[in-house]
Amino acid sequence: MKWTASSVAELGDLWGEGLSASEIAERMGLTKGAIIGKADRLNLPRRPSPIRKRTSNVVPLNPHLPATELPHEPTGCRWIEGDVLAGPWRYCQAHQKAKSSYCNHHHQRCYRRVSEVEHEVAQ
Ligand SMILES: [Zn+2]
Repeated sequence: MKWTASSVAELGDLWGEGLSASEIAERMGLTKGAIIGKADRLNLPRRPSPIRKRTSNVVPLNPHLPATELPHEPTGCRWIEGDVLAGPWRYCQAHQKAKSSYCNHHHQRCYRRVSEVEHEVAQ
């Protein structure tokens, strides 16, 4: 993985939005280790402890679903919201786009990212 100016900027944006390293890794198609290593070299502020976040934040990530209806088995979109390693996390579960594991929104998000990266690599 060669970091480009735009991928570094994207990392900074996602990091600034408060996404976990594993979420950023998934969205950028990189390993969690690569994200953490780069964030460290960029001196980005450290993430708050996910353990503290879990005790203080019990609000469901998808406001359309009540917390009591949050099975971890995917029944719709398989986009993972949250931090799989540090928890809490869940699948998006919105209606899947035809022939996709994701809902319309996440399908576009996922596949646009990949094509952007390929574009950068080709340059
Ligand atoms: Zn989704």
